[in-house]
Amino acid sequence: MGRYDTAADADAAGDVDAVVEFDAVSKTYPGGVAAVRDVSLRITRGELTAIVGPSGSGKSSMLNLMGSLDRPTSGRVLVDGHDVAKLTDREVSALRATRIGFVFQQFHLAVGVPVLDSVADGLLYAGVPLRRRRAKAAAALDRVGLSHRVHHLPHQLSGGERQRVAVARAVVGEPSVLLADEPTGNLDSVSGAAVLTLLRELNAAGTTVVVITHDREIAAELPRRIEMRDGRVVADTARTTTIGAPR
Ligand code: ADP
Ligand code: MG
Repeated sequence: MGRYDTAADADAAGDVDAVVEFDAVSKTYPGGVAAVRDVSLRITRGELTAIVGPSGSGKSSMLNLMGSLDRPTSGRVLVDGHDVAKLTDREVSALRATRIGFVFQQFHLAVGVPVLDSVADGLLYAGVPLRRRRAKAAAALDRVGLSHRVHHLPHQLSGGERQRVAVARAVVGEPSVLLADEPTGNLDSVSGAAVLTLLRELNAAGTTVVVITHDREIAAELPRRIEMRDGRVVADTARTTTIGAPR
């Protein structure tokens, strides 16, 4: 799959620097909860963005839409210029596997699987041969500061180390965007700060990062903050600084 499959796709993207674009996106769950309401926004390549807001304000729902884990009830979601609604399930899976890295509050590392293989599995979909998967996994583990732990099992690692493995797995395929949902939520403050530092380093090296956090101190340090309430974006520091600027 090329960056844009057709010229029409490229036109639809509007902005080639946009990694994620929401155009009047809403998500209502069966049962009627309107988790995301009429959100329009753009995440640009190279950005480091925090999504903040009270519990239940729609942060995770929005991240799931960004990551094509879910489809909107209305509106349009573009990932790397691809209109998710126009892709087949297979294409959405490919998009997700090759362009999006996820990190969650739970580390989701398979029990009994050595760290190196857990990270290498992040490349299974891309059809990379085993040797190369392992070499790339080793490089990703080096990036997160865990070269000395590659043969360890998850239960032999601290929470902070496990989350760094999860980050390595998320970035091993060099995704267009890394989406992290409360990645420090299960960590003590020191390990949490280390994971945040790691996300900043990855961003400085070129990875686009969107991170949900309820930690105000963490959020305050990040270059862009999108604030949600009752499914709506009520503040976006990018928007306030770009009002009236030409697109
Ligand atoms: P946050 O991450 O900010 O805590 P969520 O996106 O998880 O918020 O939830 C937003 C709202 O949508 C909440 O009212 C929540 O109960 C509801 N919700 C989330 N996921 C589902 C689901 N799968 N089915 C039904 N309601 C859901
Ligand atoms: Mg959540």
